[in-house]
Amino acid sequence: MKDNFFNIDNKLSELSEKALSRCTEAFSRIEKITEHNQQKVLYAFSENRVCEADLLGTTGYGYGDRGRETLDKVASMCFGAEDAIVRHSFASGTHTLTVALFGLLRPGEKMLCVTGTPYDTIRPVIGIKGVDGRGSLKDFGITYLQTELDENGRVDLEAVEKVLKAEKIKLVYIQRSRGYTLRPSLSVEEIGAIAALTKRLSDAVVMVDNCYGEFVQTKEPLDFGADIIAGSLIKNPGGGIAKCGGYIAGKKELVELCAYRMTAPGIGKEVGATLGNTREMLMGLFHAPHVVGEALKTAVFAASLYELLVFDASPSYNEDRFDIIQSVSLKNSDRLIAFCRGLQKGSPIDSFVVPEPWDMPGYDNKVIMAAGAFTSGSSIELSADAPLREPYAVWLQGGLNFHSAKIGILLSAQEMLKEGLITV
Ligand SMILES: *Cc1c(COP(=O)(O)O)cnc(C)c1O
Repeated sequence: MKDNFFNIDNKLSELSEKALSRCTEAFSRIEKITEHNQQKVLYAFSENRVCEADLLGTTGYGYGDRGRETLDKVASMCFGAEDAIVRHSFASGTHTLTVALFGLLRPGEKMLCVTGTPYDTIRPVIGIKGVDGRGSLKDFGITYLQTELDENGRVDLEAVEKVLKAEKIKLVYIQRSRGYTLRPSLSVEEIGAIAALTKRLSDAVVMVDNCYGEFVQTKEPLDFGADIIAGSLIKNPGGGIAKCGGYIAGKKELVELCAYRMTAPGIGKEVGATLGNTREMLMGLFHAPHVVGEALKTAVFAASLYELLVFDASPSYNEDRFDIIQSVSLKNSDRLIAFCRGLQKGSPIDSFVVPEPWDMPGYDNKVIMAAGAFTSGSSIELSADAPLREPYAVWLQGGLNFHSAKIGILLSAQEMLKEGLITV
């Protein structure tokens, strides 16, 4: 039986040890957050008396689905919300955010995004990209305003204040995660400052795109004054177990409005067959704090290793983190391609597949991706995306368990080493 299953180069193994030894402090911070959040989630399960019958599903209209109702209550407690809707029937994070935006905004009203241009897939929803006439917020007479980030990638509170004083804003939109940009992600404390400013100057609803942020800190945006949050179950809060879905959580009357949009006005959240998905959504939520901790450790280790290989990692290995995304600037496209091919080799599924750069709809450059996940498109599982353009950065995220994801990271470096693209 072999010991070095993946034939990791000796020098790279030594560097890996060194990289790991630098992670002690960051890992111990992560452990503390994980422990706190794991207790918070366990407490929510026990307080809401989750029982075996909740794990079963319903069909048809799904009236009186007790598992669905319990899951909503457990999620509410975890997120500091008055109410929540957690459903497998949300097709994606974008769909979930769309339901929330259309649930909360009415013709003639204005929304203000304070975190610069939002995530790619949200732009056609708002109507700032794509084709008119497809039912964007713009088509429905909802006006969009945006304040730009400052030169450090931070929210420009002065600019936000100006807009809130000059315009009647119905909804302030905050994107917590950096997404696939190099700006820093937002802490819940920073979100709190934006919420406080908004409340001081207006009666606007504060909505947070919480994707990739759940359980990264011990508190969530609702604990810091946000009114409503939404996110995807194939990211953090699904714990790598939920097969699909999304959630909306926040103030009761706001969640109710979103529920009328999700199903139908007058019907709301009391329907929707769960078809046996509740067990996985509950189990995923239960595991989420631990899995997010593993993903964070993976990101920290990757930053530490690649910084030793003299590349720029953002965030740096010992920096505070407010989402699970890690970017590494690799300086040319050959390295990006090798990185993704190596990472793919460290995946449990499709390890034998060789990623190729391709023209992705909506992107001006070719993009290469690595993903070998149990759930298609899941980015709480180890995965990477890299547009082949300046600054030749790869964005990686996820890792269901650190020990396995660490091999994925090492194989990304090994592939570059093999092709003579780095020296150790
Ligand atoms: C993932 C993500 C979304 C939603 O994306 P889907 O691919 O539709 O699930 C929205 N905003 C941010 C910041 C995200 O990371």
